[in-house]
Amino acid sequence: MLTVHLIPAFDDNYIFAFPLYGGAWAVVDPGDAAPVINHFQRTGRKPSYIFLTHHHNDHIGGAEELRKKFGCKIIGHADDAARLPALDIAVNDGDKIDIDGTKVNVIRTDGHTIGHICYYLPDQRSIFVGDTLFVMGCGRLFEGSAEQMYASLQKLKALPDDISIYCAHEYTVANATFAHDYLPDNEEIKNGLYFFNQLRADNIPTVPTSLRAEKLSNPFLLADSAESFAAARKAKDQF
Ligand SMILES: [Zn+2]
Repeated sequence: MLTVHLIPAFDDNYIFAFPLYGGAWAVVDPGDAAPVINHFQRTGRKPSYIFLTHHHNDHIGGAEELRKKFGCKIIGHADDAARLPALDIAVNDGDKIDIDGTKVNVIRTDGHTIGHICYYLPDQRSIFVGDTLFVMGCGRLFEGSAEQMYASLQKLKALPDDISIYCAHEYTVANATFAHDYLPDNEEIKNGLYFFNQLRADNIPTVPTSLRAEKLSNPFLLADSAESFAAARKAKDQF
């Protein structure tokens, strides 16, 4: 169980802030520094670590300013270091690191970009997936192939069902609308579409989701081959 604060940024990004076991705070994908600074000023804390999932500016844009202001250490993928702010802690696929007493496993998920990574906290049953997986959706294939993204999703699918998944965008209603159109007989999707519309009408976040829920309702996790994944991704791109 992990306490995670959602800090909205831009139109539909979520920046996440959470406490580590030793008491320090971490931030995930700060695309913008201002809302993070406001959040920490309000709570009277400061962030000490920044986790970056991939190089897109709406995920890294505020990292340098936060490092300057708070002296945070920036963690990111060694293989993609050239496109990230200077890394204080460079990590690789399969690394099991300890950040202020919290175990973090690094899982490489090529597809949305080449070099995208997710951060899995096994003891907290939580994972930060950046733009790899969304509620009833997945990231667009900007750099990787359908085969690569399918393989990445299989890695996430192999994790325990009860983990909480923190996705970096509030795309849920649009994703559920597509999912219902694509798989009209799926009751989980039908219920989700109704439920998520209610939440969003009151401006309540639909993140996090659980792997259990996604396995039942996410067309991209329901795909049982790279070919059927590619067909779903193509249908969503044209929806
Ligand atoms: Zn992205």
